[in-house]
Amino acid sequence: MKKWLFVIVMALAVTADAQQVKPGGSPMKTFIDALMKKMTVEEKIGQLNLPGSGDIVTGQASNSDIGKKIKEGKVGGLFNIKSVAKIKAVQKVAVEESRLKIPLLFGMDVIHGYETVFPIPLGLSCSWDMKAIEKSAQIAALEASADGICWTFSPMVDIARDPRWGRIAEGNGEDAYLGSQIAKAMVKGYQGDLSKKSNIMACVKHYAMYGAAEAGRDYNTTDMSRIRMYNEYLPPYKAAVDAGVGTVMSSFNEVDGIPATGNKWLLTDVLRKQWGFKGFLVTDYTGINEMEAHGMGNIQAVSALALNAGIDMDMVGEGFLTTLKKSLQEGKIKIQDIDAACRRILEAKYKLGLFENPYKYCDESRAKTEIFSDANRKTARQIAADCFVLLKNQNNILPLKKGGTIAVVGPLAENKENMPGTWSVAADFSKAISLVEGLKAVAGDKVKIIYAKGSNLDADAAFEERAGMFGKALGRDNRPATEIIQEALNASKDADVIVAALGESAEMTGESSSRSNIEIPQVQKDLLQALLKTGKPVVLVLFTGRPLAIKSEDENAPAILNVWFGGSEAGFAIADVLFGDVNPSGKLTTTWPQNIGQVPIYYAHKNTGRPLDGQWFQKFRSNYLDVSNDPVYPFGYGLSYSNFNYSDVKLSSNSLKGNQALTASVTITNTGKYDGKEVAQLYIRDVIGSITRPVKELKGFQKIELKAGESKTVTFNITTEDLKFYNSNLKYDWEPGEFVIMIGGNSRDVKSANINWSK
Ligand code: BGC
Repeated sequence: MKKWLFVIVMALAVTADAQQVKPGGSPMKTFIDALMKKMTVEEKIGQLNLPGSGDIVTGQASNSDIGKKIKEGKVGGLFNIKSVAKIKAVQKVAVEESRLKIPLLFGMDVIHGYETVFPIPLGLSCSWDMKAIEKSAQIAALEASADGICWTFSPMVDIARDPRWGRIAEGNGEDAYLGSQIAKAMVKGYQGDLSKKSNIMACVKHYAMYGAAEAGRDYNTTDMSRIRMYNEYLPPYKAAVDAGVGTVMSSFNEVDGIPATGNKWLLTDVLRKQWGFKGFLVTDYTGINEMEAHGMGNIQAVSALALNAGIDMDMVGEGFLTTLKKSLQEGKIKIQDIDAACRRILEAKYKLGLFENPYKYCDESRAKTEIFSDANRKTARQIAADCFVLLKNQNNILPLKKGGTIAVVGPLAENKENMPGTWSVAADFSKAISLVEGLKAVAGDKVKIIYAKGSNLDADAAFEERAGMFGKALGRDNRPATEIIQEALNASKDADVIVAALGESAEMTGESSSRSNIEIPQVQKDLLQALLKTGKPVVLVLFTGRPLAIKSEDENAPAILNVWFGGSEAGFAIADVLFGDVNPSGKLTTTWPQNIGQVPIYYAHKNTGRPLDGQWFQKFRSNYLDVSNDPVYPFGYGLSYSNFNYSDVKLSSNSLKGNQALTASVTITNTGKYDGKEVAQLYIRDVIGSITRPVKELKGFQKIELKAGESKTVTFNITTEDLKFYNSNLKYDWEPGEFVIMIGGNSRDVKSANINWSK
């Protein structure tokens, strides 16, 4: 009771401080000025420290090693602690037992949902539905904030064009324009109005160019021209900053020869000076320490390098905590920079309302009612179904009839743990819905569902162990592969249709999960072949966190539904689509190659001086001897149970001047039997430029609903803003000349019209 009184008095004291506004100052500035006046250098450096919090268990907060540091004012925040009870106990140590009672930030990797898990981000991006994506972030924030979390390390907006890179699963694909729209939607969803208890601070990451790791190997070197950075990789981070993201995380990789975490040009010149970012910058996990291995000096040197470059908070490594005071005494850093970093972190706490109420996010009654609620799960199920991409549907095998016998075969068919996908720190795997469970629930009694595993994930047990980390093992069957296949064939004998649940496990993508081979593991291919040989209709339900090379599956399997990792409700959502309760409408946000040798392959490529001018193969043209330049599935591609017919493109004018605006429209008709949704995509080609321009660039999209037989006209408004790019002086401007305006249902199949736009 006494302690509570103390907390209330403290809260009143800080509120009173906050109200004494100096002339010309804001309440926040006045409050932080006053607080910082009381802080020692050690306490300021303490605010810059974000240690790991592995040793905190309920009831132990005060006497743990972290607890001691908190009391000494050496901790600014902690991350990945789950539950109100634990967080409240730790916050109590900070606001009752440290000298200045400064509350802590509590962060977590809430990446695609909290306990209610949404599809992996690459899957979410395939919805092309910004409202749905914003909603998913809003629900994630609602649940996380109900459980004590006030800060998430999301959105991850790294452009990735190399499917070997496992973290392609965490981003939004290959396109800067789409990635920027998603970055904005996510920031809005998480942060909304930060004064509300249900919103949390976002952290855009990994700044920058982390997705361009050479050879797709995680943490590897990145190197590219500034023109490419500005036009193709930086826009999504900038969009998050423009949307008001509170924090930015620096990346592990180097940029222009200097690790991002120590790169002043990147962190200060671009982010703060050019883009006007006002929040705080946190490193990635031990990002400062890793600069030692990068070859940038010892821990003292790299910590000073990071601070001087613009880093405010040091995640886990404690280089700041252990060396900044010494560097200050030796004149290697300035107190003004420590002050600026400390101020930015205190500002974040202030904006979150933690000085007013350190327990703002510690409401146990919210935790009981708002997490994994029926309403949140329902939304997650609907959103997941809209993220799946129908890649093939020969002879309309899909949707399945709700009758007869269905054999569900494959290592991913009856598994809960893998459904949520790679980043699901807060999820309770036992509550996720497997495919078999989902099918049974949606089909009801009229369908007989038989299950057989059919194969292991991979023939190599050691590989399978690596691919099943963090409690996501698939359960190994040690019998010979042929025996496991035979069992599945026997089980499928009386089936009318076979659903083959194959592909990757959740941990085959994500951090440190790069692959040099992006095909379905051979043992599963053997299973698929055996199933196809039965002559029964086979639907491949493909689980994956990356674009896979599935040329042979595309040639042989009659139907393929790509379901990514759909989240906690995956099983229900997949069943909704397979049975036609939901008509699939997802479209790919990456290009799917024929084989690994084509990588990197992306739709917005340059023309080169020797493009193919007809069919492959042509000698002395830019192509391969052994495979065409075509992908298996282009960017923007995805089928529906309906068909959508596009009219020719109508332009409001074929010749414009200056800042006049253009409208481009098409009429889209649903010629199929089902109501459905279609994503109409606008691409523009700038035919002649002062630098070479891509053959097409996405500049707009609209997801529309069309009833069977219905037609709608879709209109895009185009202004000179849409024509702008960074030129060789890195000036953002447009250049006059000829433009090709293209509209279609994917990046390959478009209708086009030309316009001349003069200045
Ligand atoms: C990852 C980040 C993540 C951080 C904290 C790092 O290893 O690269 O994306 O936010 O860990 O868990």
